Order: sequence, then C-alpha cells, then structure tokens
Amino acid sequence: MGSGALFRLAVLAAAIAASVVACAAPAVEDEVDESEGALTGTCESVCATDGELEATDLLVSVNRSSGLKRTFAPKRTRVPNAYAAQPTWLRPLALGYFMQMADAAKRDLRRTIKVGSGYRGFCRQCELFDGYAKKEGEAKADTFSARAGHSEHQLGTTADIFSETDTFMGGPYDIPGTCEADAGLYAWLDAHAYEFGYMNSYPPNDAEAGDRLVSRTYRYTKYVPEPWHWRFVGKRAAEVHHALSLETQVRFSTHEFIDLLTKPLEALPEGSREHAERARLIVTRLGYTVESLELEHDDDRAAAARVASR
Ligand SMILES: [Zn+2]
Repeated sequence: MGSGALFRLAVLAAAIAASVVACAAPAVEDEVDESEGALTGTCESVCATDGELEATDLLVSVNRSSGLKRTFAPKRTRVPNAYAAQPTWLRPLALGYFMQMADAAKRDLRRTIKVGSGYRGFCRQCELFDGYAKKEGEAKADTFSARAGHSEHQLGTTADIFSETDTFMGGPYDIPGTCEADAGLYAWLDAHAYEFGYMNSYPPNDAEAGDRLVSRTYRYTKYVPEPWHWRFVGKRAAEVHHALSLETQVRFSTHEFIDLLTKPLEALPEGSREHAERARLIVTRLGYTVESLELEHDDDRAAAARVASR
C-alpha cells in the first residue's frame, strides 16, 4: 500500500469520524435559550482571542481568518415550532424568508425543512468546538467546525437545515462520512433557495463526489462541504450567486463568493479571477451594484410581516 493509498484511508477515517458528529440526531433540549453559551469558564480560558467584526451587513465575510467580536449578537426571533427541529433563533428577516422557503418546499415537493440550528453565540460556539476538539483532536475538528467568532451561525442569518427526519439534510450524493444523500431535497434547494435569499455556504460540487477534503469548498475555506448549512445573504446577492453558479457550473462557498464580489482581482487566487469578472458582470446585468446588494429588496416587508404575525 503506497503512501497515497494510506493518505486516502486516513482521509476516509477522518471523514467518517466527522460524520458521527454531523449526522447524530439532535439532543432533546429544554425550552431555554442556550444559544449564547456561558460567558465564564471554558469561554474565557479557551476562547480568549476576540474577533474584530461587528456585522449586521448581510455580506460580511466570516471565515477562518476573519472573526466576529465576542460581544456581537444580532437582534433575533425564536423560530416557531413548526419550522424548528429544536429551540433556535434567527434574525427576523432571515426567519421570514426561511418560513416562506419551507412553505414552498412543502407545496412543491411535499417535503419538510426545519431550522436545526440557527443563531449561536460566541461562547456557545466555543463550547461546541472545544467538545469536538477533545473528542476528535483539534486538527480534525478544524475541518468541520468553526472556532468561536468564526462561525456564520453567530450572524443569526444561518440555518443548518434539518429534514422531516430531524437530522441534517444530506447532499446531492453519498459522500463517505457525511449524511445519507438527499438528492431530491438538495436539488430543490439548489434551484429555489435563491428566491428566498439563501445560499449553501459550504457546497458540494458534482465533480467532487466522494472526497470532501479535495473539494473546491475545502480548498478555499478549509472546511469540508456541508450541504445542510444555508445562509441568508439577501435576495439580490443570492440571485447573483445563482446566476453565477448556472453560468460557471460551480457552486461557490459564501467565503469565495463574497471575495469574488469585493476583493481586487489581483488579491484572488488564480482559479477565482475569471469567476470574479463574471460575477461583477452579472451584478451589472441585473441592474445592481455590489453596494446595492445589501439594500432592502421590495419583498422584504412581506417576509418581515410574516414573522411579526406569528
Ligand atoms: Zn452550520
């Protein structure tokens, strides 16, 4: 057995170990807001490094190197039980659109989607990562879990989508070490989530079936694909992302997508530059500017009213 084969075995073992965490059914939790985590003990000693971002902008890039302040916490609303797999919270606009998206999935596909995990505070993320690191080792935990301040869940605009089985929604194909494939539901979200302002932050790409650690998502973000992790980026940005994906046949991570729109071309990796040029052309073609992607969409009031009426 050559070193290449050994490496692939190690990769497979790592992926399977990660799946134990990723696919476990959620624990039944009390009806209390545990999303903040405790600001003492583990959080103060283990997660002493604070981030710099305070972000209410929909397109802020939260990634491995760019983190949120410990004190950043968005205004958020409890997800109604019919749309939640366990007690969880989202920013009101993200929630309004999630509810619309769930209703559409039920209508079109007769499938149920729920928010499995929405907002998570800095210290809750610290507890989570610390738990994974103790169980799997830090290096492995780093491939599938963000450190405190570096999770998109702290934005309050991100939902891990659970299906009616109350577990993480699988991707378009079986990936060793991830949840069972759920091709129909993934295909529907892939085609329609943009209509509700959502995109898959760590997407799988068809050409990369079978090995999450060589995926474009992993190369760019250093996180393995997570087909269940969807972020509300606003209807305009999601529309641009959808058009770009169709034209390039690539699904982009939120990290890369935001870079494509906002970074100088020369600061991007070579394999991203032509996509950045295309993304900017699409923005213009749709009648937007990069700055206006953040602005309120005409439909936003309806989505917000949806939440307020609950
Ligand atoms: Zn997630």
